[in-house]
Amino acid sequence: MEYQQARPEYKDMNLLLFQEEFRTEDDCRQWLFHTRWPKGFQCARCGHDNYTQISTRNLYKCSNCAYQASSTSGTIFHKTKTPLLKWFWLIFRMATSKTGVSIAEMQRELEIRDYKTIWVMAHKIRKAMADRDAQYKLAGLVEIDESFYGPSTSHTRGRGAENKAKLIIAVSVWTDEDGEEKPGFAHAFVANDASAETIGSILQRLGVPDDEITPLIDAIRTDGWQSYKAVAKGFGLVHHRVILTDPKDAMKLLPWTHQLIANAKSVFSGPHRGVSAKHLQSYLSEVCYRFNRRFWHRQAFHRLLTACVSTTTVTRNELLAHT
Ligand SMILES: [Zn+2]
Repeated sequence: MEYQQARPEYKDMNLLLFQEEFRTEDDCRQWLFHTRWPKGFQCARCGHDNYTQISTRNLYKCSNCAYQASSTSGTIFHKTKTPLLKWFWLIFRMATSKTGVSIAEMQRELEIRDYKTIWVMAHKIRKAMADRDAQYKLAGLVEIDESFYGPSTSHTRGRGAENKAKLIIAVSVWTDEDGEEKPGFAHAFVANDASAETIGSILQRLGVPDDEITPLIDAIRTDGWQSYKAVAKGFGLVHHRVILTDPKDAMKLLPWTHQLIANAKSVFSGPHRGVSAKHLQSYLSEVCYRFNRRFWHRQAFHRLLTACVSTTTVTRNELLAHT
């Protein structure tokens, strides 16, 4: 059964309010129950509204037909052996931290014995972040640029850095009433290359359909690299090319993509030092998720908690498999 969240009402929360609302395992269980059944329990099979709770297993049994419903199925908490309170704390910390949390530190604070356990929990939360952001398209003018990430990043710019992972960043840009430019929604992807084909397929995912339908994205702003020229021509987009004579100008001329790159670099050199190629996208999605919600800091926890109950989660085996 799906969680119904057409119009969730996000609540403001800070550390004190969080501690007040979620003190026990039962507080967390109650939140899940009320979120799944906002109008009270209703049996998915027979529609009856009387139930009994089955011990402490997040299971509710219909008093009429004995159907058992779980308040955690379809959420990242399904079948977890870790107390919900620890999950909620980790979500609170990941939602409200500006740069991401250290998992080793959280392992100690939450007294979780096995590092892999909390590592998998954090990845499930990141997956929820990525799933939520994947629902958003970009529109209007989109600034695009690439960056590189590698173990010995010297921050050199240039498309010849073959051993490094390529990051492609796209930020929609809009202008407010005073004519001031503002960043809108952002997406970032780990890519094999910066070819026109790769960039084209990314733009198609973000808001440029491959047929007659009017694209959401109508213009791009780039450094004028040939792939962007080809893509703009192919999709019929207006192409604003900035002239970068000094790489330092990138921060001024392509400000929003570079803001995001700076955020990612500070995360990758801090709490998530030594990110492996396999999980790079997941960490990058976390950086984007946070960037995209920078104006909703007080709602951050409730927004992320809500995302965590409406995601298709990843399994421990999928996360730990070596590819
Ligand atoms: Zn029933």
